[in-house]
Amino acid sequence: MRNAPAEADQNTKHPEAKLAASYVIGYHDALLVVDVQNDFCPDGALAVARGDEVLPTVNQLGKTFRNVVLTQDWHPAGHLSFASAHPGRAPHDVIAMPYGPQVLWPDHCVQGTPGAAFHRDLQIPHAGLVLRKGLDPAIDSYSALYENDRTTPTGLTGYLRERGIRRLFLAGLALDFCVRYSAEDAVREGFAVVVVEDACRGIDVQGSIAAARASFAALGVPCIAAATLAA
Ligand SMILES: [Zn+2]
Repeated sequence: MRNAPAEADQNTKHPEAKLAASYVIGYHDALLVVDVQNDFCPDGALAVARGDEVLPTVNQLGKTFRNVVLTQDWHPAGHLSFASAHPGRAPHDVIAMPYGPQVLWPDHCVQGTPGAAFHRDLQIPHAGLVLRKGLDPAIDSYSALYENDRTTPTGLTGYLRERGIRRLFLAGLALDFCVRYSAEDAVREGFAVVVVEDACRGIDVQGSIAAARASFAALGVPCIAAATLAA
């Protein structure tokens, strides 16, 4: 008992040491790095404010995981999520698509263009899979697991299951769209899901960051700091 106060004092002085034990990364964990592409970074076609700031954290996270998947938004020219495909519409307008409401975006991440390439500073050479999404000209795909109709699978669930992955850590762009939808679908598929919040940045259209946080809370998805992970 005499040691108890000293131990409590130790935890107060080094709270990160206590937190780290909660997320020890192992064989059944995967890091999902969402859309760290030029068009989502400053000067890109659909720039996420300070999107490039995630790079050092994402690269460091990559070193902690044996299993890493990179996603790449990868649209054909004239994709129906582009405002330019709808005369009279502007980016951030919301229209009704057969699968539900769809936010319209500037043309971005067109297949094979420099904007669709990964940011040059993304350095996770051991990533085992690059998953491209948004290929159907008529359906957007925020989530890495399902297109925006939320019924057409990308195949990622099967890949993760076959690889024995049980827990997914999410990082990348943007927190309130592709990271959010990926987290929701991964929970729906039965994975444990954790969002590494300081490795994400958001767009924030019409309260979308607050909505994302509310969704994570409702699903029991923790939002943590990268520093709390340990290999
Ligand atoms: Zn897109």
